[in-house]
Amino acid sequence: MISVEEALEKVLSYVEVLDAAETPILDSLGQVLAEDVYSGINIPPLDNAAMDGYAIQAKDTEGAGSESPSFLRVIDTVAAGSISETEVTPGTAIRIMTGAPVPRGADSVVRFEDTDEEERKQASAGGMSGEIGILCKIKTGLNIRRAGEDVTRDSLVLAKGTVIRPAEVGVLASLGRSRVKAVRRPVVAILSTGNELVNIDQPLPAGKIYNSNTYSLAALVRRCGGIPRILGIARDSEESLVAGLREGRDADMLITSGGVSAGDYDMVKDVLAREGEIGFWTVRMKPGKPLAFGRIKSTDKGGASRYIPHLGLPGNPVSVMVTFEIFARPALLKMMGRKDLARHTVEATLADRVVNSDGRRVYTRAIIEKRGDKYFARLTGPQGSGILTSMSRANGLVVVPEDRAEVKAGETVQAIMLDWNEA
Ligand code: AMP
Ligand code: MG
Repeated sequence: MISVEEALEKVLSYVEVLDAAETPILDSLGQVLAEDVYSGINIPPLDNAAMDGYAIQAKDTEGAGSESPSFLRVIDTVAAGSISETEVTPGTAIRIMTGAPVPRGADSVVRFEDTDEEERKQASAGGMSGEIGILCKIKTGLNIRRAGEDVTRDSLVLAKGTVIRPAEVGVLASLGRSRVKAVRRPVVAILSTGNELVNIDQPLPAGKIYNSNTYSLAALVRRCGGIPRILGIARDSEESLVAGLREGRDADMLITSGGVSAGDYDMVKDVLAREGEIGFWTVRMKPGKPLAFGRIKSTDKGGASRYIPHLGLPGNPVSVMVTFEIFARPALLKMMGRKDLARHTVEATLADRVVNSDGRRVYTRAIIEKRGDKYFARLTGPQGSGILTSMSRANGLVVVPEDRAEVKAGETVQAIMLDWNEA
């Protein structure tokens, strides 16, 4: 039996960063940039108004105040998307909307609120008089967004390796890019094993249970950015298992659930040994001890042989989810080129006592809350590895180290946050 660290190291050593592909920017959300992105344009392209107002020459407002306005002649109006051909000269102003390019001759924009426009509108029932009063002294450059102040042409805007978040999608769009080179998402083939399993949507005969692992696994894969490929259910025979695994041979990773314990019908590791090689079997953790990991021999499109990492997770629904979190998630993130493989952890005061009878690392389902500036954890209730609703109630996993036979209420523990939310 190996430690969680040794097991994780082995799993990570079997996977590599995947190749990159041109991806529509919206689909690339959560992926890692595989190219340096330079800008071919200035953003904004031209000096433009930051406010609705009047484009003027600042020196025309020398001595202006609410009691002594500077009166200027309004010679044009310009909206965002248009360019005024008229030049602002001393004593004149051009009415300008936010985003519109600043006309030639103007050096600042005075906002409507600092003019007598509102008064004039009321006095003349909406019609404009051809003149505007400026009610204060304006500094040169006021309310002008400079060309290139966000992005300058030819500069590096997003570096290779950046994780694409909504802001990066927006930045790419602002450069006019519809596609970007990003590290591909791993395709993860998911196969559940067990004679007791019935497909959801089917009637449930006596002695059978619904196949839930396929769906919790597919959801976990999708949540960390992978593409789940559901292979369905394999029965507890070598034939059925081998046939199921063959279906997944063009995937980037294979995940099976069940059939890795020491029972009569647990044949995943035998098949894994025959169809590839076993990296390890059994990890010093609870839940999840009978985890099997290795790689299955396959061939790529060109006929060259290759190996697919295979995680043989135990069948219990909680074990499946916990072992995915600890091993599959970091492996998939590594394949996607991510560097941040670990979940956020916090130190929390535990409200319950946990006993650890056999020297394994225990991951208990817990509800972690922040009160003041401290975190507090309490267990979700019964911790059986078949009680899937305990995962549904939990937002984190409290870790009890293998060398601790007991953690008392009130002690400080590490909690792995499955849902990271400060509140
Ligand atoms: P195994 O590791 O194959 O011995 O499975 C352990 C237990 O997990 C089984 O007795 C089932 O109750 C449960 N189990 C196995 N596979 C699934 C599945 N796909 N969905 C829900 N429960 C499962
Ligand atoms: Mg089974």
